[in-house]
Amino acid sequence: MPQLATHVQQFTESVIREMTRLARQYDAINLAQGFPDFPCPAEIKEAARRAIADDVNQYAITWGAKSLRDAICEKARWYNGIDADPEANVTVCCGATEAMISSLMAIVNPGDEVVVFEPFYENYGPDAVLSHATPRFVRLAEPDWTFDEAELAAAFNDRTKAIIINTPNNPTGKVFSREELECVAALCRKWDVIAVTDEIYEHILYDGCAHVSIAALDGMADRTITVNAASKTYAVTGWRVGWAVASARITASLRKVHDFLTVGSPHPLQEAIAQALKLPRSYYEQLASDYTVRRDLMHGMLESVGFACYVPKGAYYMMTNTRKLTQEEDVAFARRLVKEIGVAVVPGSSFYRDPADGADKVRFCFAKQRATLAAAAARLERVKG
Ligand code: GLN
Repeated sequence: MPQLATHVQQFTESVIREMTRLARQYDAINLAQGFPDFPCPAEIKEAARRAIADDVNQYAITWGAKSLRDAICEKARWYNGIDADPEANVTVCCGATEAMISSLMAIVNPGDEVVVFEPFYENYGPDAVLSHATPRFVRLAEPDWTFDEAELAAAFNDRTKAIIINTPNNPTGKVFSREELECVAALCRKWDVIAVTDEIYEHILYDGCAHVSIAALDGMADRTITVNAASKTYAVTGWRVGWAVASARITASLRKVHDFLTVGSPHPLQEAIAQALKLPRSYYEQLASDYTVRRDLMHGMLESVGFACYVPKGAYYMMTNTRKLTQEEDVAFARRLVKEIGVAVVPGSSFYRDPADGADKVRFCFAKQRATLAAAAARLERVKG
């Protein structure tokens, strides 16, 4: 048999997506993969229907429909303090997932290093491998997920090409402060490094936390790729509309990768998201307050079962420690939960390079209706044993 691509053999299939399949197989409540189980706003669905009825059914320009790029720039200005030109700085992609991998493929050469905070969203590992980068991990320490500035500084050297930031953070719920991002930015300037920042949870914030975009900090506009998507903010994870905002030079490289990888994100859905981005600011306030209710509900439920929660400041996941409940390692525990208890979660090890570091953790997604969370709580009562 011919030998297959060796670097692809280095990583396993996505544990998050595998858990979704197991949830379907065992008819479990899926609190694993991060997607909302409630509808997206009616006006966004109407805009998509209208676009299809109006025959917006062929390719958009490869880097995105003009209406959407205009809307992205307008919102980046008022929410993120980023000044972007729709012609030169924006690439619409198939979700943040494609925007991330296209970004890395556009900037990394073999032998380059990419700094990644750990625990990390599982895609960043394979993203590094597929772009032929060597990842350098820097620990976010429990319970507050802070990093050590000296450890971060030591991860940079003259082979460092990029650092991946994800704020608000999946899976920890950490929201990087302005001071922390200033520290990262200073290292990026010192070592001539590009910040690739995944800000997909930018509106899901708790306890008065503010979202800071590293691109808006001094000297960072030309060395940052800001990745975002409609998926989480408007509850349309299946639509696959995301984007990357970067300097003209980086964008030119990124657009080439994107064009040959996917040609483009679905055109009628791009038109609908252009409308979504124009929703009034009150939409985002309501979103954050609705998520606060869900977070608090999930926190109460999980603590009463016996999980020790790391209460998030942003995003829609609850990382938990399982040791008060079980000595099983995370993967075995997660398999038992999905098969016997009927609740799917993500094993903690999928967020760490060394599985042992996540063996006492599982992640719950709470982007769910109250009834879904209550049904999960009822099932989880049986874990108490
Ligand atoms: N970001 C989501 C999660 O962590 C999943 C995204 C995906 O599966 N593409 O669960």
